[in-house]
Amino acid sequence: MGAYTSVPTWWNHSDSRYRLVCGECPECGAVSFPPSGACTDCHERVEFEEFEPEGTGTVLSVTVIEGGAPPEFASLLATEDAIAVAVVELDEGARLPAMMADCDPHAVARGDRVERVVRRIYEQEGVVRYGSKFRPVRE
Ligand SMILES: [Zn+2]
Repeated sequence: MGAYTSVPTWWNHSDSRYRLVCGECPECGAVSFPPSGACTDCHERVEFEEFEPEGTGTVLSVTVIEGGAPPEFASLLATEDAIAVAVVELDEGARLPAMMADCDPHAVARGDRVERVVRRIYEQEGVVRYGSKFRPVRE
C-alpha cells in the first residue's frame, strides 16, 4: 500500500506536479522528486539542480483503488470503477506515485513501460485540477 499513502503528499507539491520537475543532487547525483527537502539517496539537504524529465519510466508497483478513496477522488470513482495508482520509476531515476490513464486499471503490472500524459486529476470546490498521469507505452 506504499503508493496509496504517499499520494496525498504528492498533491501538495503543485508546482512540480504539472511538469514533473525533478532535482539532481549535487552531492551524490541521485534524482529526487519533488526537488525539495532532503535527497532521497544520501539524505543531505541540498540545493537541487532542477530539470524536466523525459516522462518515460517503468512501473515499480501498482495499487488499484476501488473504494474508500480520499474525498477528492470520489467524483472520479463515480465515473470509473477503479483507479490504478502506480509507483513509477522515471528513466532519470526519480520515483513517484501517479495515477494511470487510458488503460484497464487491473491490467497494469510491475515492469510495464509507461509515459507521462497531462490529464484531469480531480475537481475540488468547482476547480478542475490537472496533473500528470501515466499511460502504458504501446509498441
Ligand atoms: Zn544526494
